[in-house]
Amino acid sequence: MRRKLVAGNWKMHGLNAQLGEVEAIAAAAAATPQVDVALCVPFTLITRAAAAAGAMPIGAQDVHEAESGAHTGCVSGAMLREAGATLAIVGHSERRADQHETSHDAWAKAMAARRAGLGVILCCGETEAERDAGRAERIVQSQIEKSLPDGASGDWLTIAYEPRWAIGTGRTPTLEDIAAIHAIARAKLRHMVGEAAETIRILYGGSVTGANAAEILAVDNVDGALVGGASLTAAKFVPIIAAAA
Ligand code: 13P
Repeated sequence: MRRKLVAGNWKMHGLNAQLGEVEAIAAAAAATPQVDVALCVPFTLITRAAAAAGAMPIGAQDVHEAESGAHTGCVSGAMLREAGATLAIVGHSERRADQHETSHDAWAKAMAARRAGLGVILCCGETEAERDAGRAERIVQSQIEKSLPDGASGDWLTIAYEPRWAIGTGRTPTLEDIAAIHAIARAKLRHMVGEAAETIRILYGGSVTGANAAEILAVDNVDGALVGGASLTAAKFVPIIAAAA
């Protein structure tokens, strides 16, 4: 039985003024022990967020594939660990779009995060054009095939299915479409890693709110949510945690 994970992705939001939200979210997480909760904050906030979060894991939103070296502006897994992160998102569609990251990059970053002892949330998801062309399932299969880190296991790896067109738009796929992609993703994982596939959580992400979380989280093979906008305040995020309980 996979425990539900509700993870927040603060993207490029979060200054010291928002640490009170971290504390309030952590308090709700502590009061809901049947659900795993994590927050992925900007690099600059990791140390202070970790101090404010108590037992709630704090994550990063990216990691460099190298251990160290001449990579101006980049951050390694060891640096993230030292700062207080225990996990990292890799392959988010905004990084694929803005920084031209590929599925191979996501694989390399996931491997680096793993080597540094970080948990990994590996993102996949189709564009609107790909969905309209009937290619959503094939795209997700291909992204998982190219980016799944070696030795994948639910002990440290989570997959997040985030259709790009659902991110920040208020639009979500139908529950049937979510079920179809999550089933395809699970089948792909089984094909690649056998029984370990049953341990790997597959989150849904894209316009999850307190209003739609319960029905999305009830879909087969949806093991939690990766939440952007609605994770920025406790008022919006706590109802999603409650929906997972
Ligand atoms: P929204 O919840 O704001 O749509 O963002 C989803 C997301 O990209 C989380 O990684």
